[in-house]
Amino acid sequence: MMEAIYERPGNTDVIKIKEGEETKLNTGEVMVNAEFGSVNHVDIWGRMDYPWHKFPRRFGSDLSGTINDPGISSVLKKGDRVLLYPIKFCGSCERCLSANENSCSSRALYGDHVPGFFAQMVNVPEKNIIKLPENVSLETAAALPVAYTTAWHVLVDRIGLRPGINVLILGGSGGAGIAALQIARAFGARVFTTTSQQWKSERLIKLGAEGIFKIDDKLPENVLKLSGGIDVVFDTLGSLGVPLGLKCLKKGGKLTSIGMTTGYEFNFNLRDIYSNNIDVIGAYLGTRSDLFNLIRAVSSGAIKPVIDSLFPFEEVAKAQEKMENRTHFGKILLKF
Ligand SMILES: [Zn+2]
Repeated sequence: MMEAIYERPGNTDVIKIKEGEETKLNTGEVMVNAEFGSVNHVDIWGRMDYPWHKFPRRFGSDLSGTINDPGISSVLKKGDRVLLYPIKFCGSCERCLSANENSCSSRALYGDHVPGFFAQMVNVPEKNIIKLPENVSLETAAALPVAYTTAWHVLVDRIGLRPGINVLILGGSGGAGIAALQIARAFGARVFTTTSQQWKSERLIKLGAEGIFKIDDKLPENVLKLSGGIDVVFDTLGSLGVPLGLKCLKKGGKLTSIGMTTGYEFNFNLRDIYSNNIDVIGAYLGTRSDLFNLIRAVSSGAIKPVIDSLFPFEEVAKAQEKMENRTHFGKILLKF
């Protein structure tokens, strides 16, 4: 059973594909044969020397596969096609019992805080398994858990998208940015987005973006001119995005933050928030229900995840380098 690990903090040379130990199923767990995975920024951050990162550690958060051993499950059987929900949650705290697993008091992300999914076989709690409808392929499903579920959680669950509202996506050509664009368009929102690369602009327009902007000091003025003002900012950038995003919002608008590809510290003027009645919404991935509803949206044809490329699992280092070099558009998949 081969698995992908980070030996220590560092660049992609710390990635090793090695023989892993097969472990026995604990009560309540099922064994999954890996089929497809996908790469996320969180995998790259996983190589950083953060205090909560233990090395060596198996990484990977997005995985689809088939049931190898259903354990004591009365619902799952060998061969079932499944997708893994990537948050470890207790299932019995106040937040879990109100279907907010992404706020569980003992929450951990597989691949970041606890060993991840990138192995030919993984044991996971049955409560993390979602069976796939026949018309959703294992390949497509592997694109969904981190990037698409986060975007769905923010825009559908927390914002409650409506037709005609103006959404500005900051970091528009990343995985979550493209997911946000597709979801917002599926709900009839007007979408304005950002990228610094011309070829990506053309792809974003094809997906339904009404305006494409560069991240610079003129962003608020340019966005206002084209959109008339923004109702929701979907920020993936952090330091570079939030202060500019605040200047683009209408009074009563909503600023959402799902990550920080450009850093997490910045200065802003608090008056931009209180005097304009701005709601600030932070989101860490999404809930099981978000992932389930997203799978239904894919099954219905409302959302078609954008796939950039497919690498053999053994070439996961090359796949991560492609993401770091920003030469991709859409999800980078791995075949196990
Ligand atoms: Zn919990």
